[in-house]
Amino acid sequence: MPERVIPLFDHRQAVRMPALPSAVVPASGRLTDTLQRPLRDLRISVTDRCNFRCSYCMPKEVFDKDHVYLPHASLLTFEEITHLARLFVAHGVRKIRLTGGEPLLRKNIEVLIGQLAALRTVDGEPLDITLTTNGSLLERKARALKDAGLQRVTVSLDGLDDAVFRGMNDVDFPVAAVLKGIDAARDAGLGPIKVNMVVKRGTNDHEILPMARHFRGTGIVLRFIEYMDVGASNGWRMDEVLASADVIRLIQNELPMLPLEPASSGETAQRWGYSDAHGRFDPALGEIGVISSVTQAFCHDCNRARLSTEGKLYLCLFASQGHDLRGLLRSGASDETLSSAIGHIWAGRGDRYSELRNTTTGTGARRVEMSYIGG
Ligand code: SAM
Ligand code: SF4
Ligand code: SF4
Repeated sequence: MPERVIPLFDHRQAVRMPALPSAVVPASGRLTDTLQRPLRDLRISVTDRCNFRCSYCMPKEVFDKDHVYLPHASLLTFEEITHLARLFVAHGVRKIRLTGGEPLLRKNIEVLIGQLAALRTVDGEPLDITLTTNGSLLERKARALKDAGLQRVTVSLDGLDDAVFRGMNDVDFPVAAVLKGIDAARDAGLGPIKVNMVVKRGTNDHEILPMARHFRGTGIVLRFIEYMDVGASNGWRMDEVLASADVIRLIQNELPMLPLEPASSGETAQRWGYSDAHGRFDPALGEIGVISSVTQAFCHDCNRARLSTEGKLYLCLFASQGHDLRGLLRSGASDETLSSAIGHIWAGRGDRYSELRNTTTGTGARRVEMSYIGG
């Protein structure tokens, strides 16, 4: 059946100027939202452009030659990103993930990484800085990224079968080049490496086992992501989602695994470790993760904020409106004002879209695209 594609609604216009609190919100590093969730993880989208056209994210029919990308002047500069990141860190952020679009398409991204690597958490520790990439430019860039201060990478790869992968990225990009990028990242010391596979039932579910076999025992953590109804253009249908429980069952039939404890609170993936002949977890065989945003929502401890390419703060992957921090920054607002705005916005957050997805109170609003807000 042909893909259903829904024309794009331009969320980039949906701006909400940050409401400023009447009193200063101190940056104590202990900011929490209305559901007592701390702010720990900041995802920064550095470009809305991509050289792939994954059907679940930037379908070709919508992101075609007529699609208008953000003009350069509306992107946050590296200095602006670092300025805002410093304020977020003072409120408790410990981890920064660069994303997009394809983050390695942003020119001189290593300069930004160098600036972010100089920041320190409220406890005086270096930040955990990572990046999610489609891997296409990784072979060329891995060393420079590491030298700039990047600690690790997550690489998206939806299958090992070349024809399946070329079809899913929809620009005929070969698997071999992504695998070379993963090798280069490993050689550069950008680990532990994670590999993300979005599973679409009927499209690449037959690649689950080959992927599990390939990465088992390599030290690379393969994570299976349920295909999400993010954005408004991918024509998402529930019958194309393969539940994580089914992924686990499928792998278990051939490669025994046991559930592992979460490595940290707010972790998106549930971990499963491969077991040895005695049924015990064998670290040498490694682990996988499943990210079940559709069938088992994990909003209750969601500690992630998202900064869009043009400097809007989004409180949820499924939000339809962002808060225009760039507008505030470029209006000459002081750090105290900007920091209070960030604190006030997070303190008022109550988002939990995935938990409400199947209820009547779930949002029906048009949502922002993943390529704009970052994954
Ligand atoms: N271009 C980079 C990449 O693909 O890794 C970074 C940006 S991409 C938006 C971030 C992550 O979101 C990728 O791992 C991608 O597979 C995932 N993603 C995109 N659309 C998705 C969807 N509809 N459901 C689940 N994951 C999705
Ligand atoms: Fe590009 Fe990543 Fe979206 Fe694929 S998932 S279209 S690689 S931004
Ligand atoms: Fe966080 Fe929103 Fe995803 Fe829930 S749906 S886990 S609140 S980003």
